[in-house]
Amino acid sequence: MKRIIDFSSYSSIKVGPKVEVEMIEEVDKSFDEKFFLVGGANNLLLSPSPPPLAKLSKEFDYIKLEGDTLVIGGATPTGKVLSFCKRNDLGGFEFLAKLPGTVGGAVRMNAGVKEYEIKDILLWVKSAEGIKEARELNLEYRKTNISTIVYEAGFKVQKGFNHSLLKKLLSLRSNQPTQPSAGSVFKNPPNDFAGRLIEEVGLKGKRFGNMAFSHQHANFLVNLGGGSFAEAITLIELAKKRVYEKFGVKLEEEVIIL
Ligand SMILES: Cc1cc2nc3c(=O)[nH]c(=O)nc-3n(C[C@H](O)[C@H](O)[C@H](O)COP(=O)(O)OP(=O)(O)OC[C@H]3O[C@@H](n4cnc5c(N)ncnc54)[C@H](O)[C@@H]3O)c2cc1C
Repeated sequence: MKRIIDFSSYSSIKVGPKVEVEMIEEVDKSFDEKFFLVGGANNLLLSPSPPPLAKLSKEFDYIKLEGDTLVIGGATPTGKVLSFCKRNDLGGFEFLAKLPGTVGGAVRMNAGVKEYEIKDILLWVKSAEGIKEARELNLEYRKTNISTIVYEAGFKVQKGFNHSLLKKLLSLRSNQPTQPSAGSVFKNPPNDFAGRLIEEVGLKGKRFGNMAFSHQHANFLVNLGGGSFAEAITLIELAKKRVYEKFGVKLEEEVIIL
C-alpha cells in the first residue's frame, strides 16, 4: 500500500516535498534494499527529490511486557512508551520524554539525553534477517551500525518509574526553541559542544531566508515559516566552513539529509 505524505507538514522541521511512501505491513527483506525507512521524521531533512521512502504501518505500533523484557514495535511513538512505563511503574525510559519519534528511529540513532541513551536499555532488535543482540550493533553516541529496518526491539525493564529524573530531564528542555526543528543539527564533537562552536563563529541567530540557527540554542536549525531545503543546506555548510576555519573542527551532521 502507498500513501502520499507531505513532509512540509509531517517532518518536525517542516521541510520537504509531497511524495509517495510505501507503507510496510509485513516483515520482508526486499524492503531493506528498495527503500529508505522514515520513522517520525524528527531527525530528517528532505530535499525536493529524496530516495524512495517507506514507513512502518500501524501493525508495528505495540508494546508488550514479556517477563523482564519490554517488546516494542518499531513504529511505536516514544511518547506512548513513556506513558506505558508511567502507568505500569517501569523505569529506564524516562529520557524518552520530549524525545520525539518512533522506537525504530530512536534505536537506529541510539537517541539519548545527557548520559541516558538507548544503548543502556536495549537488549535486541528484530529485522528481516532475524534477531541481533544489542552488543552486535556498535551503539555509540548517536550512531549504530543498523542498516536494516527495525521491526521490533526488546528492552530491559526495571521496577519503578523515576518521577524525579523525569522532572529533571524535562527542565533541561526549557532552553530549547519551540519553532520547528530536527533537534540538534550537528553532533557534539568530542569534549565540546556544537552549539558553543556555532556561537563562537558568530552564527547564533543567523538567518538565511526563512531558516536560522536559533537565538535560544545555536545547534538548533529552526524553520521560521516556509523555510526551504536550500536555505537549510546553506546554513549547515556555512557553519561547517566557519567552525573548521576557526577551530579546525569538522562538524558532523546529526540530522540525516536525504
Ligand atoms: C525538538 C526535538 C528535540 C530532539 N531532541 C533529541 C535529543 O535530545 N536526543 C536525541 O537523541 N535526539 C533528539 N531529537 C532527534 C529525534 O527525536 C531522534 O533522532 C529520534 O530518535 C528520531 O526518531 P524518528 O522516528 O523521528 O526517526 P526519523 O527521523 O524518521 O529517522 C531517523 C533515522 O532512523 C531511521 N529509522 C527510523 N525508523 C526506523 C526503523 N523502524 N528501523 C530502522 N531505522 C529506522 C531512519 O531511516 C533514519 O536513518 C530531537 C528532535 C526534535 C525535533
